[in-house]
Amino acid sequence: MTDEERAPERIPGRTAAPAHADESTGAPLTGEDSTTPAFGDGTRAVRAGLPEPAKHEPTLPGPVFAAHFHLPGEPTGPYTYGRDENPTWTHLERAIGELESPADDSVETLVFASGMAAISAALFPQLRAGDAVVLPDDGYQALPLVREQLTAYGIEVRTAPTGGDAQLDVLDGARLLWLETPSNPGLDVCDIRRLADAAHARGALVAVDNTLATPLGQCPLDLGADFSVASGTKQLSGHGDLLLGYVACRDAELTAAVRRWRKIVGAIPGPMEAWLAHRSLATLQLRVDRQNANALALALALRDRADVTGLRYPGLPDDPSYKLATRQMRRFGCVVSFELPSRAGAERFLGALRLVDDATSFGGVRSTAERRGRWGGDAVPEGFIRFSAGAEDADDLVADVLRALDEARD
Ligand SMILES: *Cc1c(COP(=O)(O)O)cnc(C)c1O
Repeated sequence: MTDEERAPERIPGRTAAPAHADESTGAPLTGEDSTTPAFGDGTRAVRAGLPEPAKHEPTLPGPVFAAHFHLPGEPTGPYTYGRDENPTWTHLERAIGELESPADDSVETLVFASGMAAISAALFPQLRAGDAVVLPDDGYQALPLVREQLTAYGIEVRTAPTGGDAQLDVLDGARLLWLETPSNPGLDVCDIRRLADAAHARGALVAVDNTLATPLGQCPLDLGADFSVASGTKQLSGHGDLLLGYVACRDAELTAAVRRWRKIVGAIPGPMEAWLAHRSLATLQLRVDRQNANALALALALRDRADVTGLRYPGLPDDPSYKLATRQMRRFGCVVSFELPSRAGAERFLGALRLVDDATSFGGVRSTAERRGRWGGDAVPEGFIRFSAGAEDADDLVADVLRALDEARD
């Protein structure tokens, strides 16, 4: 590793606090294999990644706009050229790292221009022609494109659904297992710890797409994953105003490969986006708790309607994912999915909503919903709705949805 590939020195003042849940009760771990949380999630979110206070300096330093940095003499890091490192990324990377694995100082996080850039950086450097990789067949919409590209490089791509442990049947000889849990848009959940143990026993690496859960919902690295990868475009930043991605990783060699890939591909976030994302992290716990509570309120309100079928929300006690979700998650996300009887009915429903924008993506403070089948690609019925609960008042949101459903009825 050259100097410019090396991470900048850690900023002092990191406050460790584990956030992973007890597997059987969902309660924060207090056993001997964990450190007692020093602070709650809200406290950790507002302070995440902040540098030590310095007189006359702002709490969160502003974005650093620089293509290059003063560099007389020997070109030593950390800050040399803007594609390699940027101080605004450094603060954000530390913040995300603290949330992804609070008790572990050795976790390094690298930010990217988008979630797809982060996914590519975890995946592509690890795979060679002749390797096999296991991808979900019900995961993020762009994964089929990734699959095509990997196949073109001579990599064998096997797929398995997220739920039901089907990954175990296709793991032998695989180099990497990719999990997305809860899956998007189907909201199935898989057992990260169990699958990670099975993969490691066969010599395979494990990556988890943590986009939907956010690090306040689940900590894949603490459940045994080698990579926790996510789109920061969604609930992590939460305002629908930027694209971002990250890879968090504990192993130095794996991290170096991700860093090298970022340098080669150059899929780097702008300083303004990185700064905005860091600023938004301060409200992560507020947003996530409010939005997820709204998602649950909505799911409860939809449960008994005759015109709604296939309702899924991992936080709903009678959801097929609930039992597993409560073991490895501390929060269940802001996405609810359900089916309406027809495409036309689904379109009428979306058109009748007043407080919910018909838009793709999810995780923002303003509720959005879309008829997922309009994209093609996802194996979903024509009337399938993916609903992302925002931070509106629950009563207003639920009333708007129920009214729109009534108006949309045949
Ligand atoms: C949106 C999303 C991505 C891709 O993220 P971008 O920031 O849009 O590139 C990856 N995985 C999941 C689960 C997503 O929802």
